[in-house]
Amino acid sequence: MKITIGHLYPELLNLYGDSGNICCLQKRLEWRGIQAEICSLSAGNPIDFRHMDLILLGGSSDREQALACRYLKETKYEFKEFVENDGVVLAICGGYQLLGKYYQNQYNTVEGLNILDIYTDWESKRLVQNIVIHNPIFNSPGVGFENHGGRTHIGGYTPFGKVLAGYGNTEDSGHEGVTYKNVIGTYLHGPLLPKNPEVCDYLLSQALKRKYGEPVPLSPLPDELEYRANYETANHSPLKYNGYQIRKSLFRRRSTASKRK
Ligand code: GLN
Repeated sequence: MKITIGHLYPELLNLYGDSGNICCLQKRLEWRGIQAEICSLSAGNPIDFRHMDLILLGGSSDREQALACRYLKETKYEFKEFVENDGVVLAICGGYQLLGKYYQNQYNTVEGLNILDIYTDWESKRLVQNIVIHNPIFNSPGVGFENHGGRTHIGGYTPFGKVLAGYGNTEDSGHEGVTYKNVIGTYLHGPLLPKNPEVCDYLLSQALKRKYGEPVPLSPLPDELEYRANYETANHSPLKYNGYQIRKSLFRRRSTASKRK
């Protein structure tokens, strides 16, 4: 079995260790004996979405984001088709904003890829801190680091999570990120996946199911370190300072299931 992962524009979209998400996807496939093909897709080169099982877009500064947007527009219909055909996408921060109708930065309103009916306005106060979210399909909270001036409005879509601590899509919506079909858009950097192994396995499961036409069980991995990182991030003192009490019951400790190769 094999999963092909397209890393969109690693030279432009990679902030706060976002490319660590690729390592995490790759290792968690390989530890289970599943082949991982990583395609680094550079701006300006054609992208064969039919060859891809999973696409990752990271975050970026405003300049790189605008460049990435310009290049991605050349392939936006193919990208949209991939999404509508249940292709798996993880889009972080600037990459998440690009999926919408438009996003703003300090100077401009930039037309987005229009893949999702969402939009991002800009405000001068940056939303910067560790963030903790709850998504009922996962046992552990989602943890990460957010740093954005954009405020993303997701209309009727289902958010990626409910904000337990931090800001999320806007300062006050209580929602973080967006989900649509097999797309997750989120403000969680950090990188996201090593500290949230359930999210990583969810993306892999969706990609495997789509490719092989039926669920492919993923064997458990010894994730003590990952869950400890998750726990420590969620209990980081500034979060408590903000008046949130992170419930220990949200965390599920896992026992060692097998030795890593
Ligand atoms: N430039 C965008 C913003 O500030 C995205 C930033 C990012 O990807 N961290 O909203």
